Amino acid sequence: MIVDGTDNFPTRYLANDACVLLGKPNVYGSIFRFDGQASVFFPPHGPCYRCLYPEPPPPDLVPNCAEGGVLGILPGLIGIVQATETVKLLLGTGRPLTGRLLLYDALDMSFREMKVRKNPKCPICGPNPTITGLIDYQQFCGVPVVDTATETKAPASNVIAPLELKAMQDRGERPFILDVRNPEEIAICRIAGSTVIPLPELPNRLAELDRGTAMIVHCKSGVRSAKAIALLNDAGFESLRNLTGGILAWIKDVDPTLPTY
Ligand SMILES: [Zn+2]
Repeated sequence: MIVDGTDNFPTRYLANDACVLLGKPNVYGSIFRFDGQASVFFPPHGPCYRCLYPEPPPPDLVPNCAEGGVLGILPGLIGIVQATETVKLLLGTGRPLTGRLLLYDALDMSFREMKVRKNPKCPICGPNPTITGLIDYQQFCGVPVVDTATETKAPASNVIAPLELKAMQDRGERPFILDVRNPEEIAICRIAGSTVIPLPELPNRLAELDRGTAMIVHCKSGVRSAKAIALLNDAGFESLRNLTGGILAWIKDVDPTLPTY
């Protein structure tokens, strides 16, 4: 059996499809912020992950853990539920979470249960499957289309590592640093000399920026700054680099005295 402890959608769909194709139970758990879910996907005895979530969310709507955040206790709690289900399946005892989605709300401290039915149109466990082998899961989840495109266009020039930026500063260069985080994040820590325009305000504040200036854009971990760079690119800005790993990487590699969050 497979116990799904993944943190990304391509791996999650891959694990699901591999389980369905091999007829193995998939003990599922996921967490986000203060919420957790658990279930057992085990066709033909019950639905699979695709029956519940036929389509992955658009990649730009998927926050990673650094961006979205998760209560540190949740993985433990949902993991214990998954471990319990695993032992029950191995022992062949009790009533498994097959066909049931357990929803945990930490803020409300409540467990709810939702029935999940097999989707007769499910592309992998339905009666007329269109997926009969493993596919390209990065592509299915829309991940590489963006990544590969950016990477092939300009592999080294559109990112900059924190240590490279530090080296520039040490040489006396003063590159324009644009911080697109929110004010409450700026209050915690900031790279000295940066200009702040929160991502949501950026479209309306382009006039404050000089199209001719080379810019290093950063956020907390690199996701929002990538969106900011796409936006700036569309607006005709050219010399843009994303600070790899955002301010978290800057703190780790360059300035550990800054408070982190
Ligand atoms: Zn299915």
